[in-house]
Amino acid sequence: MIEHDRNYIDGEWAGASDGGTLDVVDPATGQPIAAVPACTRADVDRAVSAARRAAGDWSQTTPGERAEMLLALADAVLRDVDGFARLESLNAGKPIGTTAGEVRSAADRLRFFAGAARCLEGRAAGEYVTGYTSMTRREPVGVAALITPWNYPLLMAVTKLGPALAAGNTAVLKPSEQTPLTTLRLAALAADIFPPGVLNVLTGDGTSTGAPLVEHPGVDIVSLTGDSATGKEVAQAAARTLKRVHLELGGKAPALVLDDADPVQVASALRSSAFWNAGQDCSAASRVLVSAGSYDRVLDELVPAVSSLRVGDPQDPGTEMGPVAHREHRDRVMGFVDRARSGKGTFLTGGTPVDSPGFFVAPTVLSDVDQHSEIVQREVFGPVITVQRVEDDEAAYALANDVVYGLGASVFTRDVGRAMQAARKLRFGTVWINDHGPVTPEMPWGGFKESGYGKERSIYSLEEFTEIKHVMVKLPG
Ligand code: NAD
Repeated sequence: MIEHDRNYIDGEWAGASDGGTLDVVDPATGQPIAAVPACTRADVDRAVSAARRAAGDWSQTTPGERAEMLLALADAVLRDVDGFARLESLNAGKPIGTTAGEVRSAADRLRFFAGAARCLEGRAAGEYVTGYTSMTRREPVGVAALITPWNYPLLMAVTKLGPALAAGNTAVLKPSEQTPLTTLRLAALAADIFPPGVLNVLTGDGTSTGAPLVEHPGVDIVSLTGDSATGKEVAQAAARTLKRVHLELGGKAPALVLDDADPVQVASALRSSAFWNAGQDCSAASRVLVSAGSYDRVLDELVPAVSSLRVGDPQDPGTEMGPVAHREHRDRVMGFVDRARSGKGTFLTGGTPVDSPGFFVAPTVLSDVDQHSEIVQREVFGPVITVQRVEDDEAAYALANDVVYGLGASVFTRDVGRAMQAARKLRFGTVWINDHGPVTPEMPWGGFKESGYGKERSIYSLEEFTEIKHVMVKLPG
């Protein structure tokens, strides 16, 4: 067992005030690997108070000073890529061959936010009323509560703390109770860089730790990445004190395969994007909408590509797909699959749990499903894709948009005009053309509809963590 029985609050390491702990489990074996504090309202209060005390001085630092500290954190992460990569793989069940890349991406995001801190600007200065000069300033909101999920623990932590701190806020960060270990490791690096109270990390579940954090009157803005149902709860709770809220929620991404697309390219892109991280990605391609003209050819490529995924021990460098992140989630994913069995549709591969003490699910392709079925409409968040036949491009847009989510979508075609038409018609925050999934810190990320509101990454994410102030000066004479 790795003992991580302390939180990082106000520059110090301490356990939960009542001594409570939560077990953290290796999803590949089902065995506990660590115990972390189960924080209570009292711990939340301590962390928020520390962040409040630190907020005054931190908001007065220059962007350049904040950038230096974020760069120092990025450097420290890069010095420990292997340590972070092993821990993320162990805790989240991710293939070891993928986690070093995630750690480097985390450092890259920190570097981006360090640079962006120095580019934040007010947009107007001028004489809009005769005899007055007006200008806009962007100021930090104050104390930010940052709540992250289990699918990309380290990446999600830096994606939130980067813009929050860069914009001059202090933060209380709560990782998922399932995967807190790399966030605590990050806190240990941050402890040597940031003044006490600027970044506080506390562990615990949604009910005992997350909810008191959202409700706390000392918090000014909440940024959550999680399930859409959690987003609704958080928005309601935050409304009681009219806090600012930023929500990155679930998805049900369509991949539109038009009749001129290359089936080999489509199969290769979907093999990767739909099953990366065992499909536990809010923008994973999960609904494949294939033109009738190329339906059989696409399935002939796609099904063997998916069946050939190497599923197994995340610590084996040859493994392409590990378990899903925890026991309840495995049962939830298999619940969707089992219910789909009684509906319309054909399993072309997978659809079974894997015989193991770990939480594995076989990569699954289910074809000819009904648009109104649960498996098409609800986020499964596992290695499961559905395939539907569509008569023409308009029918593909209609089915693609006919879900409550709107996070990511893709279209595969060789025709630039059809690609641009699709990009215009799809109601999703990101649209990929001829690929599905790549992201970059310079570009915004965020959902339409029940996938949430607000943008992450890019300069827009810093703006989320600022208030705009109008300053109006009466000129002499
Ligand atoms: P979750 O909603 O169960 O939990 C997310 C976080 O919220 C955890 O830290 C949890 O402890 C906390 N939480 C739960 N209830 C809370 C409450 N009432 N108040 C405050 N905090 C609470 O989500 P998860 O299962 O950890 O992650 C999977 C979900 O996250 C999926 O729906 C996925 O699509 C979504 N996600 C979205 C994005 C995006 O960028 N839009 C990225 C990754 C994951």
